[in-house]
Amino acid sequence: MTDPARMHAISHETTAIVEDVLDYARRRALYEDIPLDKPLNPRDLARLAPNTITDRGIGARRAAALFENVLAPACLSTDHPGYLSFIPSAPSKAAVAFDVIVSASSVYGGSWLEGAGVVYAENEVLHWLASEFGLPEGSGGVFVQGGTIGNLSALVAARDAARRRNRVAEVADPDRWVVVCSAEAHSSIASAASVMDVEVVTAAPDAGGRLHGDAVAAALDAHGDAVFAVVATGGTTNFGIVDDIASIASVTTERGVWLHVDGAYGLAAMLVDRMRPAFEGVEFADSLIVDPHKWLFAPFDACALIYRDPAGARLAHTQHAEYLDTLTDSADWNPSDLAIQLTRRARGLPLWFSLATHGTAQYRATIDHGIRLARRIADEIEARDGLSLVREPQLSVVVFRRDGWTLADYQAWSDRLLDDQVGFVVPSAHAGEPVLRFAIISPLTTWEKLVEILDTLA
Ligand SMILES: *Cc1c(COP(=O)(O)O)cnc(C)c1O
Repeated sequence: MTDPARMHAISHETTAIVEDVLDYARRRALYEDIPLDKPLNPRDLARLAPNTITDRGIGARRAAALFENVLAPACLSTDHPGYLSFIPSAPSKAAVAFDVIVSASSVYGGSWLEGAGVVYAENEVLHWLASEFGLPEGSGGVFVQGGTIGNLSALVAARDAARRRNRVAEVADPDRWVVVCSAEAHSSIASAASVMDVEVVTAAPDAGGRLHGDAVAAALDAHGDAVFAVVATGGTTNFGIVDDIASIASVTTERGVWLHVDGAYGLAAMLVDRMRPAFEGVEFADSLIVDPHKWLFAPFDACALIYRDPAGARLAHTQHAEYLDTLTDSADWNPSDLAIQLTRRARGLPLWFSLATHGTAQYRATIDHGIRLARRIADEIEARDGLSLVREPQLSVVVFRRDGWTLADYQAWSDRLLDDQVGFVVPSAHAGEPVLRFAIISPLTTWEKLVEILDTLA
């Protein structure tokens, strides 16, 4: 007979499993030289790691060895200093280590009743972020899985607020709700609109890619009361461009339309004093997001979603069910009620621990490293024959071209760079032109690393 408690009881077997796994976690977290690695095709993986799910199990030793020797090397290390595509990840050692504790502690982050201690700690971080962004006392939010869910949750709260306002005013809802954003807004806005079955109206940014209030005002003139929210981007993913949030906010404030700021990548830069003017107007946001798994040095996956009026968001998001009444009838702060989710991991805790450990000044300095390095390598690109910038960098994204190269040239170069395990830089595109893009997040990404990569473009 199989002992039902075999996996849970403390025994030689379970103790050895825990020790081996934690030992591996310890070694990986402390790697001096992080391997970049690269994907394998499904056929090779099936050959190297066949039939792992069996009736009797393959045992912890074998499963862990498969992970360390086959599966992990078939994954890019997103914290490698040469990983410069998309948005890299650069979790602090403290945050990585603490993520293990979040699992080991079996804490539940959805309600105050169950997780008061962790909810308190997450709120400490959210309140600090809210005050950095200039939001008033009383604002608050929740850590959700990522920017996509954060944007969706914020827009659902915005539409709910618009509906409630119409009900109070005894005004009929429009046939189709509209969200206004820049043509440069992140794809997750269109995705949210599709889930919500609302229309996206894109307002044209200026030649530099920034959206301004006048373009938003024109969109509001055209679509009137059907508009339930305007999205401004605090750092586009492709270029790191910050919209003219101040002029957009003056339009939304005047017309009484919800302003959402998508700062998934870029809003972290506001923690650097000299960058604050670029983000003027954020303080008028009704909701905003910033992803700690991007530029706040937390592991996957965490998005901080903050509302000016959490009570309104709660009306939009609280799930009601008989078995939940004991929670939802209380006045406690329940993070589950602020987004599209119910059961939730206390995913803000790794950031809390790292922030509490190192202090905010360290965060400001580490973010600043990326901005300064981007500026410096942009100047180097401009100085080199055959290379040119597509745009001046504003945050820590640098987009540039190699004169005369086709997409096929870029792709072949990119493949070689990965094969040689030097870096991960995939071709991107701008206005139909293939380009290269460095997104700099990690403080371990050095000037020398970037120059080494530029040298391969000669
Ligand atoms: C990355 C990003 C998102 C999506 O965030 P995920 O965490 O990947 O879901 C949304 N908006 C912007 C501006 C982003 O950079």
